[in-house]
Amino acid sequence: MHVWTVANQKGGVGKTTTVVSLGGLCAQRGLRTLVVDLDPHGSLSSYFRLDPESVNPGLYELFRNDGQLEPAMLRPTGVEGLSLLPASTALATLDRQLGTRKGMGLILRRALQRLDGEFERVLLDCPPMLGVLMVNALAASQRVIIPVQTEFLAVKGLERMMRTLAMIQRSRNEAQPQTIVPTLYDQRTRASVETLALLRHEYSDLLWDDVIPEDTLFREASKQALPLTVLRPWARGSQAYRRLLATVEATAEDDQKAKVLGDDAAI
Ligand code: ADP
Ligand code: MG
Repeated sequence: MHVWTVANQKGGVGKTTTVVSLGGLCAQRGLRTLVVDLDPHGSLSSYFRLDPESVNPGLYELFRNDGQLEPAMLRPTGVEGLSLLPASTALATLDRQLGTRKGMGLILRRALQRLDGEFERVLLDCPPMLGVLMVNALAASQRVIIPVQTEFLAVKGLERMMRTLAMIQRSRNEAQPQTIVPTLYDQRTRASVETLALLRHEYSDLLWDDVIPEDTLFREASKQALPLTVLRPWARGSQAYRRLLATVEATAEDDQKAKVLGDDAAI
């Protein structure tokens, strides 16, 4: 089982879209795939028509029950082979309730380990803030995918995200592979072109050497509750996510070997 986290402390950069697209592609390839909504706003759950105000049981119950999985937590989507573990708005209260409890950072990792035979790919959709949910996602995954919108303010947000990741890695004494993915790229705009040049200059070793273009069909796909890769496999956006998946898959076996599975890490 390969687990990938999609994270950035900035909202609106394409995190949920990346999870839906890569998750859809994995399922389309016949891989049993789970997408997990860790954002209390529940955008990923809403995408697949589950209401984060009323969803039960979901990820909140999983955390409240110390990582106990119930089969009812895993929901089907409109895509064969793609399941969803939904979020509820109650997740917003977790930090206050459980944030300082020992072992809290490993709940998701332990729960996913129990699903090892059931799913081949797991994608974690993070909230745009650092807290117990993002810490859990990072501890549970073998790679972090960081979407960055190609516009002027995005690089500042990325700096913050990279500092956060470095801090968490130091505390766990473990380096986690990262892929920075330029998103919403529009080659006709100065903001996109110049931001991409800046990213190449500052983050050349972590930067994916391609882009996810701006594609209005993503909105169309979300209206139909389907990944764009399913609705329109040949849309520019779908093709770009296929190239991204190929890049991430190429490193997946190495990532897994490198992952230290010391369960007693101090988090
Ligand atoms: P995040 O999860 O980081 O907040 P989303 O994936 O929800 O970001 O994207 C924010 C908005 O931008 C959504 O309306 C989504 O449909 C749209 N969007 C995301 N990626 C693209 C893209 N490559 N082209 C066009 N629109 C996009
Ligand atoms: Mg989102």
